[in-house]
Amino acid sequence: MTDTVIPILVEGLRKRYGEINALDGLSLRVEHGEIVGLIGPDGAGKTTAMGTVCGLVRPDDGFARVMGLDCREEGQRVKEHIGYMPQRFSLYSDLTVAENLRFFADLFEVSSSERRERQERLMAFSGLAPFLGRRAGALSGGMKQKLALCCTLIHTPDVLILDEPTTGVDVVSRSEFWTILRDLAGEGMALLVSTPYMEEAALFDRLILMHRGRAVASGTPGEVRSRFGQRLLEVTGPGIAKARERIVGLRWPGVDVHRFGDRLHVVHDLEEEDAGIREALARVDVRVGPVEPTIEDTFISLVTHSPEAAG
Ligand code: ATP
Repeated sequence: MTDTVIPILVEGLRKRYGEINALDGLSLRVEHGEIVGLIGPDGAGKTTAMGTVCGLVRPDDGFARVMGLDCREEGQRVKEHIGYMPQRFSLYSDLTVAENLRFFADLFEVSSSERRERQERLMAFSGLAPFLGRRAGALSGGMKQKLALCCTLIHTPDVLILDEPTTGVDVVSRSEFWTILRDLAGEGMALLVSTPYMEEAALFDRLILMHRGRAVASGTPGEVRSRFGQRLLEVTGPGIAKARERIVGLRWPGVDVHRFGDRLHVVHDLEEEDAGIREALARVDVRVGPVEPTIEDTFISLVTHSPEAAG
């Protein structure tokens, strides 16, 4: 790729709503062919960050640029380069798949000569071709999201901004959706995608873990996990409820227990704590052993132990 323009560049963004620091000095960049994830719980500032890049939110400080254009000053030109899929993308449920596509093509002033070819391409890669005549309201949740993505792509943008596109979508459709995103990145598109699902983290090229408007960690999934600076034991088996009681009963301030479905993760710092936890669980029906931290472990550890991040 010879193009040296950075598709998405954000520096020191700040945005306050009254007492709330929605963005507190956020910086990021997305290169061509990259899928960068904004990951964080509700209220972390993901939507505000995306709104700023799309020119919909005016930052108090800092700047966002898309393809070298200032998102605040050159909003109209920026929109030509962006495909933005908000959390509640408005499809017209009474219109068919084909009619929705036509509507968005009109909105983006796509010429009629380009339309047919684009529609065919989008329908082919999304797998929606057999459903062109179906009303959008009668599509499954996963198919609706794919149609929303196709409408977002109808003007062939350079950058794609997707706000929680897989929220509420079943696991199979989520995986198909990710295959499509990978194909788009393969064509050189730059993608900024938010998700509340930490388990999707490994799918991104780079991640930004967000908390209270700031990045608490960023980098490849491996780099982010390497920020976990504590010891971790995993506890599995039928006795995990009892095991949790025992560990909490130790009342050790440096030991945290988190339950993830059918397993406990016990975070601690010292070798003696490790030995003490194993001893406390010796007669409980569980298996105990060290594991590699997940992105979720890392996020919890960083926001719990960094006063700066925790505010
Ligand atoms: P969610 O997934 O719930 O949208 P998020 O990570 O996208 O979470 P934002 O929607 O960006 O977070 O919100 C960040 C903070 O800013 C929240 O505390 C939210 O209540 C607040 N906020 C966002 N927009 C506004 C607004 N227009 N007026 C007042 N407060 C707002």
